[in-house]
Amino acid sequence: MMRPAAADLLAWYDRHRRALPWRAGPGERPDPYRVWASEIMLQQTTVTAVKPYFERFMARFPTVQALAEAPSEAVMQAWAGLGYYSRARNLHACAIAVVAEHGGRFPDSEEGLRALPGIGAYTAGAVAAIAFDRPAAAVDGNVERVMTRLFAIEDLLPGARPLLRERVLVMMPQDRPGDFAQALMDLGATICTPRNPACGLCPWREPCRARAEGTQESFPRKAAKKAGVTRKGAAFVLLRADGALLLRTRPPKGLLGGMAEVPTSEWRADYELDGAWQDAPVVTRWEQLSPPVRHVFTHFPLELTVFKASAPAGTQAPAGMRFTPLAALGEEPLSGVMVKVLEAAGLYASSKTR
Ligand code: SF4
Repeated sequence: MMRPAAADLLAWYDRHRRALPWRAGPGERPDPYRVWASEIMLQQTTVTAVKPYFERFMARFPTVQALAEAPSEAVMQAWAGLGYYSRARNLHACAIAVVAEHGGRFPDSEEGLRALPGIGAYTAGAVAAIAFDRPAAAVDGNVERVMTRLFAIEDLLPGARPLLRERVLVMMPQDRPGDFAQALMDLGATICTPRNPACGLCPWREPCRARAEGTQESFPRKAAKKAGVTRKGAAFVLLRADGALLLRTRPPKGLLGGMAEVPTSEWRADYELDGAWQDAPVVTRWEQLSPPVRHVFTHFPLELTVFKASAPAGTQAPAGMRFTPLAALGEEPLSGVMVKVLEAAGLYASSKTR
């Protein structure tokens, strides 16, 4: 069987590359700031959802200097709707670090990028390759799928990731690493899709082992999810002196989409309560309540530690949030877990549950 050639993928990419607002056109130099900002936005959000936000964000903060100099409320406001505000805080912190420590220029190596706030292995690889044409591997879900199918790699993910990175680096052409990284992502997003991959249109249909064996959809192989790993997080109940509660609305898609909630941290198995203050919506004296609130979703149990604080009358809600009078709570689409949080804070009687 022939070996897959990078040149075939690049020839396909030259004809079929996706036009994305953060992507440089053919022959143009990418703007590291736009590449980096898009990668941060895409971390837990789809391309379709990010596009309009990205355009607005760039109109408001056209350079890393503009972002670094902006008040954090303005950044949070521009971020509102993308969810997970810790990403926005890291984004802002990173812009400030790039300006303060690197004279406003992003470091051009994976190592240099990784040292910045909020940039992990994947983002460092993606920015190094796409913005600086460094031979760096950026293995996301799309790339995992393409590579495991192409070579019929049976090793289980996530353990197989280092092997996949190695395979990507071996194939990466020295003259167009950035295009190769983006071509792999595009192939996974548009042709080598999770269901019904369009193998007939794939530039690697000849060398692809999974296609030859008819086993495309069995890849990537994944370690069985540990059913019901408990996720943890912090929930922040802020009551204003006039009897209004700080709330926000969850992003429209995903778990509890569009429901109202008090601000919370991300919910993760490895959430560290020690750092919860970083996720709080305002800086104030938070009282930790116990015991934590427990709730069981279909796929995981959740344990939320509730923090409570009061705010003086006249306090403005942070961007993307609102104060709702307690008397009007019944009008808010509160989820079951939020009702439990408010009960734990002594603010809600279960008889009000709709
Ligand atoms: S031939 Fe099919 S399975 Fe193989 S890489 Fe191409 S689209 Fe994916």
